[in-house]
Order: sequence, then structure tokens, then C-alpha cells
Amino acid sequence: LNRYPDRDAAGLRSDLAAYLGCGLTWRQVWAANGSNEVIQQLLQAFGGHGRTALGFEPSYSMHPLIARTTGTEWLDGGRGDGFSLGPDYAAGRIRETAADIVFLTSPNNPTGTALPLEVVEAAAAAAPGIVVVDEAYAEFARPGTPSALTLLPAFPRLVVTRTMSKAFALAGARVGYLAAAADVIDALQVVRLPYHLSSLTQAAARAALRHT
Ligand SMILES: *Cc1c(COP(=O)(O)O)cnc(C)c1O
Repeated sequence: LNRYPDRDAAGLRSDLAAYLGCGLTWRQVWAANGSNEVIQQLLQAFGGHGRTALGFEPSYSMHPLIARTTGTEWLDGGRGDGFSLGPDYAAGRIRETAADIVFLTSPNNPTGTALPLEVVEAAAAAAPGIVVVDEAYAEFARPGTPSALTLLPAFPRLVVTRTMSKAFALAGARVGYLAAAADVIDALQVVRLPYHLSSLTQAAARAALRHT
């Protein structure tokens, strides 16, 4: 602990890539102190003054709060009857607003509903910028529910965020991560703090992954 941590967290990112599968390599995975910090870094890099972020409420309440702390204007696209979110509805709101960053949450918090991949595909096809799929509860989805990870090769501006807080019962360690094109992760290097992820955090996360 008298040394600075590996600032690229290469070992942890390799382990996370192996956990996610889908042929991902460590350069397509990025980790930070909880997915809240991952989301903050995304908003710092791609949002900010004069830019907008769009979500579909009710959804995870931290998306608008973190957006506002980065000076990003928050737009609520709402939902249809029964909190539904269909592909045409989502794509329509994205086209109307031309939001720089779009947040989808699947399974959604607080409604628990997972999004069919057609909704993510429609959103990614319509979005002029980044589409973030917050999959904090992916491991709790019904068996056979597809992850947006499978769409990453088709959409270079798609980002899937995950966390070790829920499925790994590791909220106190603060480990969140994302999978995206390596270019997206390069862009995050501009906003991340040097040595943001401590050696203890990296070691704890890697130990937990060994006991998946
Ligand atoms: C709990 C939760 C998170 C965040 O968690 P971290 O502990 O910051 O990793 C992110 N998104 C959703 C939808 C959540 O429910």
C-alpha cells in the first residue's frame, strides 16, 4: 500500500471482461468507484454545459442527479401505460430531443422490467450520441433475458454499465464498471482522476470475482 495502484486497473478489467464474456477484452471494459462514478465519468466526458441527457422516468433517480452535477440538462422522456417503453416511443423521444446521452435501465429500477433488445437497438439507431444501458440488476433478470452487451459490436456509441454492489453483495467496496468500444473508454481518460481506483478496491473486486 506504499505504492500507487495500477492506474489502468488492467488485472481487474481483464477479470471483469472474462466475467462478462461476449468476447470482450480488457480494453473494452472500464471500472470505477461504483457505477455511480462510471455514470459521472460518462456525463463529464460526453455531457456538460449546453448538452442534454434523456431518461425515461420513473427510473434510477441518480441518473438525473448526476447529470445535473455535471451541468448537463436533464430531459424526462416519460413512459407509456403501465410504465411501458417501446422501441417506437423511445426512438421518437430521442429524435425529438436529439439528446447527447440517453439512459436506459434494464431491468429497470424501480419497476423491475427488463427491456427487449429491440428497444435498445431502436434507441441506439436513433441516438446522435451515447446510449447508456444501466444493467445494475442484469444478474437478477429472468433466465434467458438478453443483455445489451450482445449489441456492442453493432453500435460503437453504446455503453453498458454494471455494478458489483448488487449481485456480488459488495456495495461497500464501491466497484462499478462498463463495457463499450475501446474508443469510448479512451475518451473517459480525459475526465478520470489519476489513481481513482485504490489497490484495496481492485484486490477486493478480483477476490470476489474468483468466487463468482
Ligand atoms: C444500485 C444501482 C446503481 C449503482 O450502484 P453503485 O453502487 O454505484 O455501483 C446503478 N444503477 C442502478 C439502476 C441501481 O439500482
